[in-house]
Amino acid sequence: MKRYAFGIDIGGTTVKIGLFETAGKLLDTWEIPTRTENDGQYILGDIAEAVEIKRKEKEISLLDVEGIGLGVPGPVSQGTVLKCVNLGWDVFNVERRLSALAGGLKVKAGNDANVAALGEMWQGGGRGYRDIVMVTLGTGVGGGVIVNSHILPGANGAAGEIGHLPVKDDETERCGCGKCGCLEQYASANGVVRITKKYLAENPEEQTVLGRMETITAKEIFDAAKDGDAVGLKMVNEAGRLLGKGLASIACVVNPEIFVIGGGMSRAGKILIDSIRKHYRKYAFHASRETEFRLAKLGNNAGMYGGVRMVIE
Ligand SMILES: [Zn+2]
Repeated sequence: MKRYAFGIDIGGTTVKIGLFETAGKLLDTWEIPTRTENDGQYILGDIAEAVEIKRKEKEISLLDVEGIGLGVPGPVSQGTVLKCVNLGWDVFNVERRLSALAGGLKVKAGNDANVAALGEMWQGGGRGYRDIVMVTLGTGVGGGVIVNSHILPGANGAAGEIGHLPVKDDETERCGCGKCGCLEQYASANGVVRITKKYLAENPEEQTVLGRMETITAKEIFDAAKDGDAVGLKMVNEAGRLLGKGLASIACVVNPEIFVIGGGMSRAGKILIDSIRKHYRKYAFHASRETEFRLAKLGNNAGMYGGVRMVIE
C-alpha cells in the first residue's frame, strides 16, 4: 500500500478534496468551485490540476500516491456515470477520464451517498463493522448499503436510494423524483416541515408553539418535541415511524449489523434515533429486531473518507 491517497466529493457548487494517509488520517482538506458550465466539461480537469498542485506543494512523489477516490452526485455503475443532472454530465467512464488527466493514477468512483456510507464504515459511526446501512437525513433522504465492506451499487447504480422507498399510497403531492409517497416526502428536513405545515393547516385549533411561527424549520419542530409540545412530538413520531418502517424493509433484504444515521437532521440526536428504533422494532423481522442504530461521525467529510477507502481496497 502506498502512503497517500486523495478523497474527493463532487457537489453541485464546490468540490471537496482531501489528502489522506492511506492508514486513515486526513492530512489536509480544501475546496474548489464546481464549474458546471459547458456540460461540466472542466470539472475533472480542475480536480486533476488541484491534486497535482497539492502533491507538489507537499513534495509527495507520484509513486507514493495510491490513487484518487471520487463521490459523484448521480448514479455510477462500474466506473461509468449514468447521467448527472447537477453537473451537466451525460454517460461516460469517469474513472478512465480522470485517470488520463491525472498522470495515470488509479481512480475509483461511486455515487456520493454510497461513498459517504463507505467512509462512515471505515472511520466513522460504522467503524469495526462490515455490513452497514447508512441513511442521510438532509434536505432529502439519501443512503448507502455496504455489504462485506463493499458498496452495493446495483445494476443501474441506484441501490441505496432509501429516500424513494414507497411508504404511502394516499399521497397527492409529488416527490422530486416524480413519484408520490416516497420516504423523503415525510422524513427529510423538508419533509418534516411539509407534513407539519399540512397538519397545522388541517388542525388550526391545535395549541402548539409551532402554530405561532411564520416559518418553521425542522430544527424548531424537533426542539418543540424536546420541550414536550404535542404537535412537535406527533410529527417526530410520524417521521420516525416511516423511517423505522422503511429500515425494517431494508433489513429484510440485506440484514445489516448496524444502521448509521447522518445528515443535518441527525443533529436532533437521541429523540430522533429513539423514535426510529421504537418503530423499527415493531416492523422488523424477529431475527433482525435488535439491529443497532448509531449516529454518523464524519459529517461532510464522509464522502472524502469513502473515496479513499474505495481506492485502497
Ligand atoms: Zn421520490
